Amino acid sequence: KPEHTDANIALCYSPEKKVYMVQKPRFDPAPGQVECHVKATGFCGSDVHFAQHGAIGPMVVDDICGCGHESAGEVTRVGEGVTDFQPGDRVAIEAGVPCGVCDYCKRGRYNACPDVVFFSTPPHHGTMTRYHLHPAAWLHKLPESMSFEEGALCEPLAVAMAGMQRSGMRLGDCVVVCGAGPIGLVTLLAARAAGAIPLITDLSSSRLDFAKKLVPSVKTVLIEKGQSPKEVAEKIQKVASMPVTLAMECTGVESSIHAAIFSMAFGGKVFIIGVGKDIQTIPFMHLSANEIDLQWQFRYANQYPRAIRCVANGMIDVKPLVTHRFCLEDAMDGFETAANPASGAIKVQIVD
Ligand code: NAD
Ligand code: ZN
Repeated sequence: KPEHTDANIALCYSPEKKVYMVQKPRFDPAPGQVECHVKATGFCGSDVHFAQHGAIGPMVVDDICGCGHESAGEVTRVGEGVTDFQPGDRVAIEAGVPCGVCDYCKRGRYNACPDVVFFSTPPHHGTMTRYHLHPAAWLHKLPESMSFEEGALCEPLAVAMAGMQRSGMRLGDCVVVCGAGPIGLVTLLAARAAGAIPLITDLSSSRLDFAKKLVPSVKTVLIEKGQSPKEVAEKIQKVASMPVTLAMECTGVESSIHAAIFSMAFGGKVFIIGVGKDIQTIPFMHLSANEIDLQWQFRYANQYPRAIRCVANGMIDVKPLVTHRFCLEDAMDGFETAANPASGAIKVQIVD
């Protein structure tokens, strides 16, 4: 375990599937860049997946790479030409930095930028470090009322809000959220804030209990192993006791996607945020005969300012999601906790 100094340590993983702390140099910010002292960073499932499996789809760990992209911090130094920020400012760090000039970027669909630098996706090191250099344009000021922990949680919230916006969710919609992991739970919070009547599913009763504490009015559906998607769908419909017109799918698991599809009323939509197996089947004729739409989300664009506004104005309280905290020196213990399903953790954060 490293001593607590102001050394620029970081949590990394390697192609050999080892996780360890490294010490990085501390460079001066280049023109347009800001140095942030990272104060809070959450573990994402992808950090654990890269470290343990060495790849996610086409993104392969072929060199040592740093964890973390859910971060907020304090500005320590600014590079030449930076006028919007000064030392002491508190910021959320938007970890995907697009090129800004390609067609997608110019159309505002910058999550599709082919040249995006997404910190913590190999080969780009992550933000689970002490000092991180970031382009000023991709930092978002946090109001005094928001903690660094809340600022870091704007990342998963941005995923949920991007999906929600594109799903067209409306006040009074009956919405089933599939999966009560961190993404399902922020989606639940956002759906509730948007005036939807939410249900949530999971295989784990403790995750459903957590959802119930977060949003007391939510109806929960426990999925039992061995239940067919049609059986699950019937249960969802029964618990809802009104037409279910939208599913926010947050597992990426085929059987859950099928259950969501079968639970929809005619003309409903299954909006898939979860990611899963490369090739999956769909109940084609059921979708066709019931005009059920399928839609997808890849990361997010233009969501950080909206997410910050929702948290700062008290519409969404993300604080209860942080169940475990570790100091940066103990980031390896944080990793173990985040990687261990038996830990009961929802969101593990590293705070410095
Ligand atoms: P997580 O693994 O913590 O949560 C998934 C939850 O789904 C778990 O609680 C699990 O018990 C539950 N589950 C599994 N199978 C189920 C089933 N058949 N029915 C109901 N519940 C089931 O993951 P997370 O961090 O919450 O992320 C959720 C998904 O979103 C993951 O697939 C992740 O990769 C994906 N994701 C996508 C984006 C994107 O840009 N589209 C961004 C972030 C995360
Ligand atoms: Zn671009």
